[in-house]
Amino acid sequence: MYNRVTDGIISELSQIVGIENTLVRTEAMEPYTHDHVIGLRADPEVVVKASSAEQVAAIFQLAQREKIPVTPRGAGYGLSGGAVPVVGGIVLSLEKMTRILEIDRENLMATVEPGVITGDLHRAVEAVGLFYPPDPASLDSCSIGGNIAEGAGGPRAVKYGVTSNYVCGLEAVLPSGEIITCGGKLVKNVTGYNLVQLLTGSEGTLAVVTKIILRLIPLPKHRIDLFVPYDDFESAALTVSAVIAQGIIPTAMEFM
Ligand SMILES: Cc1cc2nc3c(=O)[nH]c(=O)nc-3n(C[C@H](O)[C@H](O)[C@H](O)COP(=O)(O)OP(=O)(O)OC[C@H]3O[C@@H](n4cnc5c(N)ncnc54)[C@H](O)[C@@H]3O)c2cc1C
Repeated sequence: MYNRVTDGIISELSQIVGIENTLVRTEAMEPYTHDHVIGLRADPEVVVKASSAEQVAAIFQLAQREKIPVTPRGAGYGLSGGAVPVVGGIVLSLEKMTRILEIDRENLMATVEPGVITGDLHRAVEAVGLFYPPDPASLDSCSIGGNIAEGAGGPRAVKYGVTSNYVCGLEAVLPSGEIITCGGKLVKNVTGYNLVQLLTGSEGTLAVVTKIILRLIPLPKHRIDLFVPYDDFESAALTVSAVIAQGIIPTAMEFM
């Protein structure tokens, strides 16, 4: 079904991303053989680290021409095996695309590259009084691109929603090598096919996301933590529905 990666293809790839961003040695490629799914691993034939949408496009054009599979990869913290190159070929890492391109305080939007670590974005927007709520427990290790691909979310989801509720615009590269943009700095964007949401949660199967516009909200001014002991599980569980029935949506509730 697929062809093997030849020396000639590796040479072309290194012309696109640079020799220093083209890994072929077994030891250098080892971190790219797995994500965080226990027991699942597969060897890539080559790992390339892209720095721009144009590089991603050129890699896809080459891969299409040569019938080589491409597996996109963010930080490799996934729990569904999506970044594991189960059919070999090229692992396309976005780890170098780590720029926060803009924090637009007037429009409450951030524009970022996919390799930005989620916790870094949290800190950057909070420093200017804004808030990006999605909070997967892996936030200090995983990337925004991986969050988009996995629709990631954490304990704040009940009050604030998950990643898909904050993605307003995407730049992405299709397997053909075509660079597309969809959505934008818009909250109301209601006609036409919703390609932003189609790509969000698609686990890298439709396109590689190379730029992301995210909605921000004002940083809450006050936060109160409550630690409440209970005698039994049932009364603790009933409190959750009782609190919500009162019209109070907590940021997070955790059972310890
Ligand atoms: C300890 C731990 C705790 C976790 N907690 C949570 C949690 O609370 N909530 C939660 O939702 N998840 C959680 N996860 C899972 C994981 O962190 C998330 O799925 C996260 O979004 C993965 O991001 P990543 O950058 O590591 O992606 P990767 O693992 O590198 O890739 C994940 C998928 O995204 C694709 N992909 C990556 N970048 C791109 C891109 N730019 N364009 C297109 N496709 C791309 C890959 O092909 C793959 O299919 C946890 C994982 C661990 C190990």
